[in-house]
Amino acid sequence: MDQAVAVGVDIGATAIKAALVSLSGELVESFHQPSPRTPAALHDFVHLVLGQANSPIRGIGIGCKGVIDTATSRVNSLPGDLNFLESRLLADVVEPGDLPLYADNDARTALIAEVLWGAARRKRNVVLLTLGTGVGGAALVDGTILRGASGAAGHLGHMTLDLHGGLCICGNRGCVETRFSSRAIESDYLAHLLPFETKSRNAPAFCWDARFPSYFKAMWATVEWPEPLGWYSCSRDG
Ligand SMILES: [Zn+2]
Repeated sequence: MDQAVAVGVDIGATAIKAALVSLSGELVESFHQPSPRTPAALHDFVHLVLGQANSPIRGIGIGCKGVIDTATSRVNSLPGDLNFLESRLLADVVEPGDLPLYADNDARTALIAEVLWGAARRKRNVVLLTLGTGVGGAALVDGTILRGASGAAGHLGHMTLDLHGGLCICGNRGCVETRFSSRAIESDYLAHLLPFETKSRNAPAFCWDARFPSYFKAMWATVEWPEPLGWYSCSRDG
């Protein structure tokens, strides 16, 4: 029996996760850290995982937010917290040596996994949403991942729900991600706790600070929110 493993890496905006998995898809060991903020931190995390393998490693698969060129592992577009990876080849950052490295958008890798082993097994037409710090999306159409001419097709988290909504990290307003990503929900939650009224729909969160009671300042300090917070709706009346 082949005991070889593959390494899977999921680069998210809040956390980076990795796993050693058998070639039949069984989880051997998993790893978890706050998201890297530099290329070197990403490199070091992946090599930490590689160093934990007790079996031969056959390759590395990476799921990452943004628009990823699967042919080269180049991060073509990645606004927000992980912007430091934009225009870089993930293979250059990770330096996998002789190991093959494959990278794709994280929602697409999740969709492929669901089709191979999960809820969408043997399905040929599937839509998947990843609900996390942001909202990722991917679509399988007649057995093929929908990519589009620019590679951005199927990014369902950036469909417009409200033309006049909050500013999204993609540059548009009122995307799905600005309404029900975990970050948007946290922002709305804190806004509804404030003891004063604001009529400024989608006002930047940091504008509250001048009138923040100490209690909310203390609570605020416990939330690991990358700046700028004002990307997301935070109105009481929104
Ligand atoms: Zn957007």
